[in-house]
Parts: sequence; structure tokens; C-alpha cells
Amino acid sequence: TALLSLRGARKAYRGDAAPFALEVPAFDLAEGEALAIAGPSGSGKSTLLMMLALAAPPDAAEVFRFAGQDIAAHWRAGRRDALADLRARRIGVVPQTGGLLPYLTVGGNIALPQRIAGRPDPARARALAEELGIGAHWAKRPAELSVGQRQRVAIARALAHRPALVLADEPTASVHPELADAVLALLKRECAAAGAALIVATHDPDRAIRAGYPVLACETHAPGADGVARSVFARA
Ligand code: ADP
Ligand code: ADP
Repeated sequence: TALLSLRGARKAYRGDAAPFALEVPAFDLAEGEALAIAGPSGSGKSTLLMMLALAAPPDAAEVFRFAGQDIAAHWRAGRRDALADLRARRIGVVPQTGGLLPYLTVGGNIALPQRIAGRPDPARARALAEELGIGAHWAKRPAELSVGQRQRVAIARALAHRPALVLADEPTASVHPELADAVLALLKRECAAAGAALIVATHDPDRAIRAGYPVLACETHAPGADGVARSVFARA
């Protein structure tokens, strides 16, 4: 059975300036599966990731299931605590840039999601740091690390609490282009090793394909006659 299922999910921003509508007709993600969400800037990737992070509701969804729970029903019933709890325990996030708390050490940053999920596991935090080649920097602050090292701390942190799903919004935005392929490959490999499904948002579908990701691509974007920029994300 799928870890994540969406059918007929929609979300729109009105506003006279730039009305926007996101549609995801149908999409399933199996446990441990990796997927890239690809589309140009402004196509709704962040909006879709916020929905998948259980942080923002769809306007409508015939089916929205995650980790055996009916997310659409949770939103309809206003069960924000259940959604926040599910997010804290089952989802890991790799932010676009920064995202590490500057006053915590590398170890403190990696262990943070475990504390938030109420499941401290120092041995796993340490093992992830070693696995990702940042064990020697355990007691340093993020500012003392290179951009590439910080990105690896962020990957370790996203996996620390054994999430079922990792969400990464443009995880290569802050690294050199030469390193970007390696970051995408590393993220995929580490999530697979941890048994976590992975969704990466990227403006560069070719890079995602090179790194071996199946792609959910943005099909249309320019505003139609009604002035609404409509993004339809479907399996390429
Ligand atoms: P991407 O991540 O692909 O760049 P976004 O999801 O950030 O795309 O944005 C998609 C569209 O929705 C853009 O036109 C953006 O301006 C608009 N948008 C995003 N968030 C909001 C919001 N909170 N209110 C109104 N419009 C928004
Ligand atoms: P930069 O310092 O330019 O940001 P990186 O942080 O990506 O570069 O790499 C720093 C060093 O760590 C390099 O020598 C690189 O080969 C090495 N490295 C990269 N990934 C790993 C890993 N997963 N495990 C161990 N070492 C790694």
C-alpha cells in the first residue's frame, strides 16, 4: 500500500494581482520511494510541499492519505494537533538554505527533531553524522562549517527521528552547481538506506533525472484567458 496518496488535490491563491491555481490530479508514493517535483519558479512547488508537509490544507482533495491516516478528514475536522503530531513524528524536512539553528552545535541540530518528536536517540544521531562524513564536526556550530558540510548536517537532521517521508525544497540552491548532482544523489542514497520516502522540489528536471529520480512535472503554467496561472503536476 502507498505511503502517500493524492487524488484531485487543488489549492488556489486569489488576490487580484496574480491569481494562481495548483492541481495534482493523481499521485501515489510508495514507502521508501524517491520522487522529484519539477517546475519553474512560481509554479507551485513550495505550495505543494507545504501541503505534503501537512502544514497547509488543500482547498479540496478527493483523497489525501499519508501513513495510513486520512489527512483530508483531519483538515475537514480541524484536527490540527493530530496533523502537527503526524508531521513531527513521520516527516523530515531539508530546508532550501540555512535552516540550522546557529546557537546549537552540529550534534544539537541533528538531535533536534528527535526531541521534538519525543524520541531521543543519541546513538542514531551520532551514527548519521558519521555516515554523512560530519562526525568530526559534531561539537562545532553551523557557522564554522562549509556550505556542503551544512547541507549534510541538514540531511542527517531530516533523518534523525526515523521519518517515513523526507521533504526537500530546492536542496541544491545554496551549493555550487558542481556539487548539486552529488547532493541530490547523497540525499537519495541516505533516504533509501534509512527506508524513508523522499520528495525533492527542483526547478531543474534534468538534474533530477540525472540523479535517478522519477519526476512529477509541472505541465502548464502561463496565465490562461481567466488570468489564472494554472499548474498541473503529473507523472512525467
Ligand atoms: P515555487 O515554489 O514553484 O516557486 P510557490 O508555491 O512558492 O512556487 O508559488 C506559486 C504561486 O503562488 C506564485 O505565483 C506565488 O506568488 C503564489 N503564492 C505562494 N504563496 C502564496 C500566498 N501565501 N498567498 C498568495 N499567493 C501565494
Ligand atoms: P565544500 O567544502 O566545498 O562545501 P563538501 O563539504 O561537499 O565541499 O566536501 C568537503 C569534503 O568532504 C570533501 O573532501 C568531500 O569529498 C568530502 N565528502 C563529501 N561527502 C562526503 C560523505 N558523504 N562522507 C564523507 N566525506 C564526504
